[in-house]
Parts: sequence; C-alpha cells; structure tokens
Amino acid sequence: MTDGPSYGFDTLQIHAGARPDPATGARQTPIYQTTAYVFRDADHAAALFNLQEVGFIYSRLTNPTVAVLQERLATLEGGVGAVCCSSGHAAQIMALFPLMGPGLNVVVSTRLYGGTVTQFSQTIKRFGWSAKFVDFDDLDAVKAAIDDDTRAIFCESIANPGGYITDLRAVADVADGAGIPLIVDNTSATPYLCRPIEHGATLVVHSTTKYLTGNGTVTGGCVIDSGTFDWSASDKFPSLSAPEPAYHGLKFHETFGNLAYTFHGIAIGLRDLGMTMNPQAAHYTLMGIETLSLRMERHVENTVKIAKWLEADDRVDFVTYAGLESSPYFDRVKTVCPKGAGALFTFAVKGGYEACVKLVDSLEIFSHVANLGDTRSLVIHSASTTHRQLTPEQQEAAGAAPNVVRLSIGIEDADDLIADLDQALAKAAG
Ligand SMILES: *Cc1c(COP(=O)(O)O)cnc(C)c1O
Repeated sequence: MTDGPSYGFDTLQIHAGARPDPATGARQTPIYQTTAYVFRDADHAAALFNLQEVGFIYSRLTNPTVAVLQERLATLEGGVGAVCCSSGHAAQIMALFPLMGPGLNVVVSTRLYGGTVTQFSQTIKRFGWSAKFVDFDDLDAVKAAIDDDTRAIFCESIANPGGYITDLRAVADVADGAGIPLIVDNTSATPYLCRPIEHGATLVVHSTTKYLTGNGTVTGGCVIDSGTFDWSASDKFPSLSAPEPAYHGLKFHETFGNLAYTFHGIAIGLRDLGMTMNPQAAHYTLMGIETLSLRMERHVENTVKIAKWLEADDRVDFVTYAGLESSPYFDRVKTVCPKGAGALFTFAVKGGYEACVKLVDSLEIFSHVANLGDTRSLVIHSASTTHRQLTPEQQEAAGAAPNVVRLSIGIEDADDLIADLDQALAKAAG
C-alpha cells in the first residue's frame, strides 16, 4: 500500500512498509533467509558499494524482511528512516555512535532501565565516551550539565522501572537551545501510547524485545530518525557533516539530506559494528506489531485496575503508576501519553526486602523474569536483580529501592491477576 498520511495507527501497524512479495505474491512478508544478493552486473555492484544506488548487498547491512520492519517503525513513530539492530542495548550504542567520540559526553536521566544505567555509567567509558546522570524533573540541572563536549540528551518517555513520565517537550526545548539532539527510549510506551518526535525528539530508540514483539520471543532494537535535525548547523557532528574517508570523502548530510543519519547507521554503523537484526527476529516483531494497539489498550486497562487495587491495600506502602491520580506525573499523562501511562510500575511492600522476595516467590500467574512488555504478567524485585549492580544511591534515584517490586502487567484477566497478588501479599505479610 502507499503509506498515505491519512491512514490511522491501526491500519499502519498492519500495512506500513509491506507489500505483496513481488516474486510470489505472498501476502505475508516472507522471511528472506539469505546472506547475500546477486548483483545484476559489475556496474550495479559498484553503484551499490558507492552508495549511488540503494539496494541489497549483504544481510549485515540490509535485508528485505528487516527493511519492512524498519519502514513500519519509522512510519509508526513519524520518522523518516529507521535502522534495526540485534537488541535494545545495541540500538542505544548505534544511536550514539554517529554523534560521539573520545572525550565527548551525553546527558542522561537517572530514571532508566537498569541495564542502560550500567551501559552508560560503565561500559561506554571504554570508547572514551561518558554520561552525566541528572534528575530530568529538574530542567535547570539538565541545562547545567550540558557543556561544549555534550553531543546528546537521553531519556525514556515512560521511565523504567517506576513508570515515571518525562516532560519530553520541555527537555526537547533544552536540547534545541544547546544545538544537540534529544534521544528518547520509547520502549515502555510504544508509538501507540507516545510519539516522542511529535514532542520534539530527534531520535527514538526501542528495545523491540518488549511490547513491539509483545510475547517474549526475540530480542531486537531500533533507532528511528525524525529527519529534522540540521547536522551541519555546527561542527559538532563531523561524522554526518564532514567528508567520510571510508567513502572517498562523501559527506552524509550533504549527500543524503534528512536521511543522512539513517544512511550513516547502515553504511557505517551496521557495516562496521555489525549489531544486525536477523530476518527471523524481524518476522516475529512484524507479527507482534500487527496487534500492538489492541494489546496496549488491554495492558493499560488491566494496569489501571490493578494499580488502584494495590493502592487501596493495607499491605502496600505506595504505588508509582502515573495513571493514578495520586501520582505527581498524573497531569503529564494527558500531554505526553494521552492513551495511557503504560503497563509498568513499582509498588512498595510493607516488610521491605524480605517481604518483596517472599511475594515474588509466592506469585503463581506472574512470572519472575528479567523482562517486560510480554502478553504474560511479569514481576521482578529490581534491587536483587536488574538494579543489583547499582549503588544504593543509584537504586534509590532509579526508583528501584529494596522495598520495591516492579510489575509488567500482561493481558490476562485482571481479576485473576488481582487474586494472585492478593494471595502472594498474604504470604509475604505472614
Ligand atoms: C529492555 C530495555 C532495554 C534494553 O533492550 P534489550 O533488547 O534487552 O537489549 C533498553 N531500554 C528499556 C526501556 C528496556 O526496557
């Protein structure tokens, strides 16, 4: 189909990027299980390698099944292009790679997925990059953290693990003022609940492992470019604006315009870092996205019911869900994610660490796993698992204190989930 701007989300989640297979007429997108593609002739091969013609060379760079997913995600997020990668963590490195270099830094929110805190506070130092962690509810602190060596701002739209909502427009204005891109991890929200580009984000990253695939089958990631950032406005982004020695002095921004970042992601990022999504993974994720809106509606509906029930229970100290009127983020839901505050939140169990561990071990429908965004309901005690590598101060700042349990609410019957929580809370209190 032609991706007319008039199509609604439910239509685009099924059709965007896909067309009947030109070779066979197959209606579903085939899994193109191939490593390489035959060149028409030597001139065709040369044109592809010179980036003068767009086409398929080798599946580390591009693959037709993965290309459909890229186009679908770019469309759903309102971007101009997308690059899929092997995991959400790969997507984060791929997102930063064209912007960063030794000695440069990124200003990031303290409220992030635990693995991201570790990736940013430890591992990226090996590249000579660094991250400055700031409370993104304090915009003056965000501004103060930006210096001449800052090349991006990074946050989550609905932030892990507590389901906090970031004021994306306000943060985007700070990024604009500093002449640097805002990167938003939109994993917990999905483009159904929040479209960060409409709030001023330059780039969106996803762990497609979560709600986009939706049922815990494959890991994957994606970087989506809004196409709105002027990479040549300053000399801060030479990978995109200056001559590229690996392509005979080609300048990406001058040559590819608003697709510069996407082309760079494929032609340099995937080519040389090799964090490629495989076509099987793309297939599972495409299957998942076809029902994204239906699942997200039920995820949100169940989460509102369960968060309200927990908040009213004596055995619970507090519930962080932004969809509750008691949440300091309740008003932000209306502007940032009006269809709902997602399906991820934490709650504090009276009795602290011991009670939390007992609760997790007593739940029967909820699975104790290090994942989120599954059709199944999931539970984890962050302080003893995903946020275990963090210092107590980092745990507290990230919303993963020892007395807190994180839930990822699935699409089962809400009443069954409430009954399960009820019996487990009784055991935890006993
Ligand atoms: C899971 C997750 C990641 C990392 O994604 P992987 O696919 O596990 O590498 C990053 N950000 C958020 C918000 C996540 O939930």
